[in-house]
Amino acid sequence: MVDLAGQHEKIRDEINSAINQVFNTTAFIKGPDVAAFENELSGFLGIKHVIGCANGTDALQLALMALELPEGSEVITPDFTFVATAEVVKLLKLTPVLVDVDPDTFNLDIEKLKAAITEKTKVIIPVHLFGQCADMNAIMQIAEEHNLFVVEDNAQAIGADYNYKGKTVKAGTIGHIGCTSFFPSKNLGAAGDAGAVFTNDDVLADKIKSVANHGQDSQYIYREIGINSRLDTFQAAILRIKLRHLGEYNEARQKAAAAYDAAFASNPELQIPVRAKESTHIFHQYTLRVKNGKRDALGKYLDEHKIPNKVYYPVPIHVHTPYATGSRFDVAALKTSIMLGEEVISLPMHTELSADQLEFITVTINNFFKH
Ligand SMILES: *Cc1c(COP(=O)(O)O)cnc(C)c1O
Repeated sequence: MVDLAGQHEKIRDEINSAINQVFNTTAFIKGPDVAAFENELSGFLGIKHVIGCANGTDALQLALMALELPEGSEVITPDFTFVATAEVVKLLKLTPVLVDVDPDTFNLDIEKLKAAITEKTKVIIPVHLFGQCADMNAIMQIAEEHNLFVVEDNAQAIGADYNYKGKTVKAGTIGHIGCTSFFPSKNLGAAGDAGAVFTNDDVLADKIKSVANHGQDSQYIYREIGINSRLDTFQAAILRIKLRHLGEYNEARQKAAAAYDAAFASNPELQIPVRAKESTHIFHQYTLRVKNGKRDALGKYLDEHKIPNKVYYPVPIHVHTPYATGSRFDVAALKTSIMLGEEVISLPMHTELSADQLEFITVTINNFFKH
């Protein structure tokens, strides 16, 4: 699905010298690369504060902890996504409210989101799934009307642009807090686990920093219960280098997506990724919908032809045991989420796809539909 080795080869020397530098200084914890990366990322995103942390799931947890929500608060999150959002909500003894997604963009369905809001709702966590933004213009307006926080899960859309009220801004910088992951296969990937939280709010930034550092006020003086979640210096040093390539990485993915689109657009049994109106798409995943119940057969055919493929995500959140109870959802309203679990398939998507590889993948897939 990804070619991390091919990507690494091109920056190997730069990375090696950055790693050596960290060893030379032995500043393994909170070394100068951490603050430098946070500053560089904040410049790239056009946001005031970036706080590095250990991974993307921690980023979401830190965001919710910083909001100090009253017990019993409800947090709206998509039913069709990676588990991390619902997971941290549950972990903090809050109630996930699982909302259906749009069949074209796979992002939060705005009408169903509106219908899910109650007195207890305090936060919306839109996930910018597969590389393009949820309908943030609508989501921010709803949040304003109901006095809700918005925490963007930007783990899959770092570097995407969004037309927010007529102004181009970076994904993840629109809500009160943005969260991201630098898991190695993400568009901006570290060489291990890493993540970050971002915000324009000084008070929230201060709170997030404290919570990420054991709730420490000044040395060995604690003002609240926190966690220990740090961005590792080695990862920061590596991310500094890779951030400089993020634009070109995202363009390489868009080019591969365009080749897939061209090959599949006229296939009536496939739905190519629909582009959201106000967002660019940076293709964390290239995800097709396969019609007529043929998804699993296509997956098997691709396996036989040694073409990597994967279903993100086969089982909606509300079905899994830990979320089937203690969450709020209406199964009848989750039709799209359930349908997508049966129809979607993701193809190899990364920065190193060659014309030959794309040709082989697209011809093989179109051959499958000729049988
Ligand atoms: C990867 C991912 C996360 C979690 O990131 P980790 O760094 O693996 O903890 C959260 N949300 C989404 C949508 C993701 O894709």
